[in-house]
Amino acid sequence: MAKLPFDGRVDSVQPRIRLLRSFDEVTHNYLGYALTVTGTVAGVERQFSVGLGRSAQAKHQFRVGDYVCGECLPVERPELEAVEFYKASKLWNTEGDWQQEQGPPPWCEVPPPLETYRERGHRRLTAVTYKKRCVACMWGCRMAVEITVDHWNPGRKEYRYETFCYGPLSCPWYAAGPNRKVPGCQGMVYTEDDWVDEQNTEGRDEDE
Ligand code: SF4
Repeated sequence: MAKLPFDGRVDSVQPRIRLLRSFDEVTHNYLGYALTVTGTVAGVERQFSVGLGRSAQAKHQFRVGDYVCGECLPVERPELEAVEFYKASKLWNTEGDWQQEQGPPPWCEVPPPLETYRERGHRRLTAVTYKKRCVACMWGCRMAVEITVDHWNPGRKEYRYETFCYGPLSCPWYAAGPNRKVPGCQGMVYTEDDWVDEQNTEGRDEDE
């Protein structure tokens, strides 16, 4: 399939991470970065999201307000990606004149390397707050989640999306939302209690 041209203004740059769950176990796939762009893709004006590799972000240093153009492909398996398009190439960007008037929050700088996200750890973030307040923040992340329901039958999968915050624990916009539940075999359900988020982020001070 021929790649689709896109261009527009960058509304957010966040990590692109897939979460693999198997009952109480989690693994992360660090795929790169996700750009949310308002502009044109395949000749249609709208807001859309594009996945980049980590080297593309390292080279272009995308941040909110930049103007970007390039080519991309529609995601083949949407259940495995939190973006609509990926495999971006022929990328080009210019710095926009956007200035953050207030804040943070949200944090709208060039996001750090993916290793920084891994080291910081995340806590759950309610999808409503993510959508309303955190889409532009480099510490927000919407992950595609693949759940192996029965590890004796690894072909049995479920898919969903979950939102997380890697930002300072003191962020006034943060809202955890309900504890997440993970289906297991024979109807069992694992509830991820608050201590998991506390353990994931225990290496950081409140304002870090
Ligand atoms: S809650 Fe997290 S993602 Fe949202 S603005 Fe605060 S630090 Fe950013």
